[in-house]
Amino acid sequence: MNGKSVLIIYTGGTIGMMKDPETDLLKPFDFEQITNQVPELNRFAYKIDSTSFSKPIDSSNMGPSKWIELANIINKNYNDYNGFVILHGSDTMAFTASALSFMLQDLSKPIVLTGSQLPIGTIRTDGKENLITAIEIAGASNNGYPIVSEVSIYFEYQLYRGNRTTKTSTEHFHAFESYNYPKLAQAGVEIKYNYKYLRSVKSIFEKPLQVNTTLNPNVGVLKLFPGINRLQIIHFFNTPELVAVVIETFGSGNAPSDKWFKDALQSGIDAGLIIANVSQCQTGSVHQGKYETSCIFDELGVLSGNDLTTEAAVTKLMFLFGKYEEVNTIKQKFSEPICGELTL
Ligand code: ASP
Repeated sequence: MNGKSVLIIYTGGTIGMMKDPETDLLKPFDFEQITNQVPELNRFAYKIDSTSFSKPIDSSNMGPSKWIELANIINKNYNDYNGFVILHGSDTMAFTASALSFMLQDLSKPIVLTGSQLPIGTIRTDGKENLITAIEIAGASNNGYPIVSEVSIYFEYQLYRGNRTTKTSTEHFHAFESYNYPKLAQAGVEIKYNYKYLRSVKSIFEKPLQVNTTLNPNVGVLKLFPGINRLQIIHFFNTPELVAVVIETFGSGNAPSDKWFKDALQSGIDAGLIIANVSQCQTGSVHQGKYETSCIFDELGVLSGNDLTTEAAVTKLMFLFGKYEEVNTIKQKFSEPICGELTL
């Protein structure tokens, strides 16, 4: 033992799933069957402990209350471990990574989410490599400092900044991309860290961990498509308790020029909604006012999401509405990077 320790937090997902013999459907099973499949865990030079959701879930059932549970588990164990590995279904992993990046600020330890496309009990599983390298990264240090001090996703030999990541494939082991931010590391014979793009080690230890466990879940996503109509938008904006809407727009932030569209946005804004504009394109940024079809957004005070992913935009708004009451503060904070989720 070199004195290092890593806590594995098992939430569920394919990595720990098995076929239910009665229904033939994949369902999450308990953590023990993962450790049985990976005897390599006993050969690590780190102390490895684990904890688990009382009922492991498919990540389609993930959401704000579970993110709060995760943040509380990390907070409770923060001083006892060098790093944390969260085993999670890949479907919504990018949302959880984004949410945790806002909820756990000023991290001085790695939090690495991973999972797999094939259950760990299957011969061709990608889960073993993902788990073993994620643990390696969670314990990695340089001159006594952790190399990674942020929320990240490790999948198929790549380490990504969590709040820049999107799931892109249902069939390839290479299932994630970070289109607007370089990879944090690449695992081959060695793990090559991209030091230039990792959160700066200098900022570590300057401040204590800030844990924010109040989220406002009343945020929605509206995806534009050619043919979307007034009634659909009006109904959406009238959802009870809705506080904010992320609109997924065309290209660099464009939308229909019809008067009804502008009026619908205006009525939502007049009712107190904050509306944010992110692009349906995966690479690049929103530029409100570049085309005539995006001028209304600036006129109406719609916030540009710049190069935020939808996952980061939604969870950032949930976090900001949980933390601040003043609308102008929320608007201002939305437009500034909080934890590397945005390029200005
Ligand atoms: N449906 C699974 C989940 O997200 C898929 C996976 O783990 O890859 O929990």
